Amino acid sequence: MKTRPPLRLLFGLLASAAVLPAQIDTITEARVREAVSWLADDARAGRDTPSQGLEDAAQWLAKRFEAAGLQQGTKGSWFHEYTLPGLRVDSREIELKLVRKHKDKETTLDLQPDVDVRLWSAADTASGETEATTVAQADDPVLQRLLGAESGRRPIVIEVPTDHPFWLGAAGARTMLGGRRAAARPIFLVKKGLFPELPTDGTEATWTATWKAPAPEKVEIPLKNVVGMIPGTTKRDEYVIVSAHYDHIGTGSPAEGDSINNGADDDASGTTAVLLLAEALAREKPPARNILFVCFSGEEKGLRGSAAFAEHPPVPREQIVANINIEMIGRPEEGKQGMAWITGADLSDFAAIAGDALQLQGVALTEFRMAGQLFAQSDNYSFAKYGIVAHSLSAGSLHKDYHRPSDEVAKLDIPHMTKITRGLFEVVRAFADREPKPVWSEAGKKRIERLRK
Ligand SMILES: [Zn+2]
Repeated sequence: MKTRPPLRLLFGLLASAAVLPAQIDTITEARVREAVSWLADDARAGRDTPSQGLEDAAQWLAKRFEAAGLQQGTKGSWFHEYTLPGLRVDSREIELKLVRKHKDKETTLDLQPDVDVRLWSAADTASGETEATTVAQADDPVLQRLLGAESGRRPIVIEVPTDHPFWLGAAGARTMLGGRRAAARPIFLVKKGLFPELPTDGTEATWTATWKAPAPEKVEIPLKNVVGMIPGTTKRDEYVIVSAHYDHIGTGSPAEGDSINNGADDDASGTTAVLLLAEALAREKPPARNILFVCFSGEEKGLRGSAAFAEHPPVPREQIVANINIEMIGRPEEGKQGMAWITGADLSDFAAIAGDALQLQGVALTEFRMAGQLFAQSDNYSFAKYGIVAHSLSAGSLHKDYHRPSDEVAKLDIPHMTKITRGLFEVVRAFADREPKPVWSEAGKKRIERLRK
């Protein structure tokens, strides 16, 4: 049923239409929680580079940028694409026969590729028959050591449950970054339930493995940074980059029954900030400079996505005036709620500009003992190398859950994260609108000079 609105309400609507609605108020605890929960959900499987979870996150971010009314940040696409060298392995092309000898009894397991047995890692050696094969269980405490072992000529066989992330991740054909060198011998995963019972009388069983694992194929792995833009008005040939990395480290060895490194703080928190800032600023009064919102992949593999972006940026590099990179803003140190810190703060006037802006939302700058060395540890560094004033803003700590499955949404301080994101709204506006560009300090100039040598 439609009724005519009372006059007073109509006047109220007209009055609020006359001033732009405060878009900063769209940065709420509920929306922060919604976005960070999606990114750090177990369904993303820890957003490893490369992985399906990472790809899903890229598509989701692009859709949100589009819905917010941003422009595509690269010509005709939301994605800045690059490749990294990698290896392709295929669990469907392997063979494994296991014979267990216990006392005078022999048990033979003829395992069906991909169904009963999968290949965990690429190996140089293509086939063999090995006595005294190492056979371990998924919950074996030495599992991580076995998986990380680079030497040895014997294949390793690990029994895993079919809902284990290692098992799920090793299905069919897959690619892994080439930085992970092919090991001397393969590691096989065998579906749990096929092994005969372990001897309970203290006697040892021995295993012989006959196996084939074709050498991995060298491939170029396609990867994406996600880029959206809000066009500037008066300084249209200048760009401010607001960034965070949307990748994390994927799945690992189970800790307390959980093996998915959700990376809620590192760096779903920063990615959430980039997204909510883009959504809020897209509906605000347009900025003077263009603002590029960039979500990087490959950060955890050595700042790879930002390095590719800074090497081949979609806009002229010399027209990028600043990079505001956002890292881990979800878990403040004790007593530092609502405070933020900046890496390499003494290297430019970035911290002074950001500090004034943050104050508008009641966010104070604080010191962090490792802020100096962390300057070189995140994606801002890829831009600093080219002389662009670039820093990471963080409002977190290197907590005990860092790079562990326990870096989860439940441990985030959402009110803190929301306050910091609102502060960042003012920071981005300041860098996009203020007349002078940020500049390196004398110490910063020296640092950049050293970097360029
Ligand atoms: Zn990070």
